[in-house]
Amino acid sequence: PSQDRWAEVDDYLTGLLVPEDPVLDHVLSASAAAGLPPINVAPNQGKLLHLLAVITRAHTILEVGTLGGYSTVWLGRALPEHGRLVTLEGDPRHAEVARSNLEAAGLLGKVDIHIGPAQQTMAQLVTAGMGPFDLIFLDADKQGYPAYLDYSLSLSRPGTVLIADNVVRGGRVADPDSGDGAVEGVRSFLELVADEPRLSATAVQTVGAKGYDGFALAVVGS
Ligand code: SAM
Repeated sequence: PSQDRWAEVDDYLTGLLVPEDPVLDHVLSASAAAGLPPINVAPNQGKLLHLLAVITRAHTILEVGTLGGYSTVWLGRALPEHGRLVTLEGDPRHAEVARSNLEAAGLLGKVDIHIGPAQQTMAQLVTAGMGPFDLIFLDADKQGYPAYLDYSLSLSRPGTVLIADNVVRGGRVADPDSGDGAVEGVRSFLELVADEPRLSATAVQTVGAKGYDGFALAVVGS
């Protein structure tokens, strides 16, 4: 099976299970029109995030890496009436596109976008006594994942669900000598997760329209 087949199957699955949605379509077209890179999650992955937030009955969500707000809309729509989502973005241009997209999605009232390097913002959230968050989604620079994990633990409670995207990287994650900073970031992250007694975790390889990658899923214990 090749990339073409993976994309075909994603089209088939998404066509069946992820109904066309004018708001989400708008988020993607407005992001593309603004020149943002198409590195958002795929529609069926966005729905997975949404379902995880629904299953865990998340009232508070932290997202690291907003881009144009596509995954933010999927997650934000899972929130109950008084739920809150905090999303962190380093690029002010991306954050501006996300703000406009979240407004169009009717979600701006539930979402706080923090602009700045995520490690700095997460440190500020910890200092400000924010959290605990019910669900945390890591999807920014992979070199930052080890630090994001550390802050995530400070912003969590027993039962918090942590999802980290792009942990397989075309299979390169299994190569200890890749020389690739993103791979090394993901490997350190996974090793820290494995060594963290408060976390129970797994990671799953995925193929699809976005290629060959995968995600890690962890839950904070007591
Ligand atoms: N979650 C988004 C979605 O699925 O729609 C995609 C996020 S994209 C893969 C990663 C985003 O993280 C980019 O918008 C990038 O600007 C941002 N980013 C990268 N490094 C960052 C950092 N150190 N601090 C904050 N944001 C960062």
